[in-house]
Amino acid sequence: MKLYKIKKSKIDNRRGLYATKDIKEGTKIINYIGKIITNKEVEESAKFDNSKPIYLFTLNNRFTLDGDFHWNTAGLINHSCNNNCDYEGKGYKVWVSAIRDIKKGEELTCDYGFGFDKDYKQFPCKCGAKNCCGYIVRAGSRFRINKKFAISKKKTNKSL
Ligand SMILES: [Zn+2]
Repeated sequence: MKLYKIKKSKIDNRRGLYATKDIKEGTKIINYIGKIITNKEVEESAKFDNSKPIYLFTLNNRFTLDGDFHWNTAGLINHSCNNNCDYEGKGYKVWVSAIRDIKKGEELTCDYGFGFDKDYKQFPCKCGAKNCCGYIVRAGSRFRINKKFAISKKKTNKSL
């Protein structure tokens, strides 16, 4: 039995994935599948402009995984500022795992991991979490929108 099902999401009126049973922290839930393309293609193709970075995963300094395909069910997972899942990867594989215990019926959410840049207002967040910063920006960068979202001053992040 699959750990997820597709259902209309309260987040942004899109579809999302929901837990079909209780899921333990650390459980691998679904593979994130797509086509492997070169980073050069990403830079050069108009398809990958700034309006849809959410489906791209940089795998290494040469290749990127493009998950923007209808058969990539994991692409339906919505972003939340209080996400219960996260992307993991090894080599050329990317998948989604639970980062805490999830109850049956909960929507599965990830941190899309967007860096903070001048275009952050292009991606408003409607996750509804208490700690929502209002935009889809990864946890480590939310303090740039509002100081109260600082996680830890000790953490350094190269891409900030
Ligand atoms: Zn949010």
